[in-house]
Amino acid sequence: MLGVQVAVACKVYQEEASVRTTSRFQVLDVTGRVEEAVSKSGVTKGLAMVYVPHTTCGITINEAEPGLMEDIVEFLREHTKPGAPWRHNRIDDNAHAHLGQSVLGHHASIPVTGGRLNMGTWQRILLVEMDGPRRRRIIITVIGE
Ligand code: ZN
Repeated sequence: MLGVQVAVACKVYQEEASVRTTSRFQVLDVTGRVEEAVSKSGVTKGLAMVYVPHTTCGITINEAEPGLMEDIVEFLREHTKPGAPWRHNRIDDNAHAHLGQSVLGHHASIPVTGGRLNMGTWQRILLVEMDGPRRRRIIITVIGE
């Protein structure tokens, strides 16, 4: 049988949000912004991708329980050691934030089902600032039918 083509109607929606962080380390729940984008996209089944075009903040999915958000900051401080004699600190003072970003990553992908983010009860999309205060861009892309 020669080439069978299946037509799939695929939507691609993209928007950019921005947040302003207010301290050097901060965990911000950005789930609401992503939910809004999914709603505007009209996609009912597909994928939402959240990306930060930065090298000193990260994206992770976890509980937005206030104690845990502080624990995330403490964990990152302890393990990335701000002010330690990292080589990058010879030209900048934020090696710890680059290292933290490498551990956390800069994006998250979430399934979209029934027009909504298909996440676990306690899951939230968290932007983790490690070199604030700064304005941070969040690029949200929603793909699907
Ligand atoms: Zn740097």
